[in-house]
Amino acid sequence: MALNLEVVIENIFTKEPAFEVGVKRPPCKDDTMSWCFQCQTEYAEDVVECVECGVELITQAPTELDDVGGSDEEQIVYELHEWAGESRRALDQELTGQNIAHSWLGATLVIRAADEESVDEIVEATDETGGPVLDPEAEKIAYEVEGWAADEQTAFSELLARLGIPHEFDEAGDLLVLVEDEDAVEAALDAFQGANDDRPELEGLDANALLSNVFVACDRLRKDPRDNRGVEEILAHAPLLVSHRPPFGFNPVTWNLLGEKTNELVDLLAEGNTSDEDLKLLANALTEVLRQMV
Ligand SMILES: [Zn+2]
Repeated sequence: MALNLEVVIENIFTKEPAFEVGVKRPPCKDDTMSWCFQCQTEYAEDVVECVECGVELITQAPTELDDVGGSDEEQIVYELHEWAGESRRALDQELTGQNIAHSWLGATLVIRAADEESVDEIVEATDETGGPVLDPEAEKIAYEVEGWAADEQTAFSELLARLGIPHEFDEAGDLLVLVEDEDAVEAALDAFQGANDDRPELEGLDANALLSNVFVACDRLRKDPRDNRGVEEILAHAPLLVSHRPPFGFNPVTWNLLGEKTNELVDLLAEGNTSDEDLKLLANALTEVLRQMV
C-alpha cells in the first residue's frame, strides 16, 4: 500500500478543514451517507467519488474485513488490480445484491472460502459484462506496464481515475488510453515516475535517516511549534528533501509533496506571524504521513 501514500498525503493537505477525508467511522445505517467500497471511507451524501480511490461511491455501508464470515471461517482473496475501478464497483454491487459477504483491501476482494464457487461465477460474469470503459470506436494507444509492480499499476490507474482519464487494461496487461488523452497521460506518467528530474541524487545520505529526522522535527513541532530543537532540525533537513531527486524505491510524487509541504512549514515558521494552530496543523499532517514511511 505504500504507493498509495501520495493519495493519503494529497488528501491530508488539500482537504478543507471540515472535510473529513479518510476518517473511518463504524458503519451505520444512516442512509444519508455514502461509502467507498474499496477503502470503507464514509462520505457525506453529496460526494460522488472516493477521493482516495477514484471510484464511485456506494449507498450501503461496506462490510468490515473481520466481518466476512465467522472467526473460524477461512477467507480467500481475488487480486483485481487489473480491473478498472468501475468493474470492481460493479462486482461489489453484484455481490451485495446476492447477499455474499465480502470486503476489499484496495483492489483485492476478500470473501468467505465457502462462497468461492458462486463468487467465481460472478467474477467471470462481471469481467465479461463489465465491458470496456473506453469507446470501442475511438483510437487508442497502449502503454506497456508489464514491468511495473502490481501496486504501481494500481496506483497509476488510480491517479488516472482521479484525473478523470478513462483507461483500461487489455488482455496483454497493457494500459489502454484514448489517443486524445495522450498528452495528459504523458504528464501523469512524468509526475508519477519523477522523470525529467535533474536534481542531484541523495549521495552519501540515507533517505530513511533523513525522513526520520524530519519526522522527529515535525513530531516536536506539532506539540510545540516554538520548540527550539524542532525548529533547528526542520531548518536543517527540509531543504535536503527539495534539493534532491526522489531516491530509488521512493514514490516520486510522495517525495516531492513531502519536500514541498516541509518547506511550506519552514516558510510559515520563518514568517513569524503564523498562528500556532496553523503550524501545529501542518506539522501534524506531516508527522502522520512520515510515520507511515519511517
Ligand atoms: Zn476509497
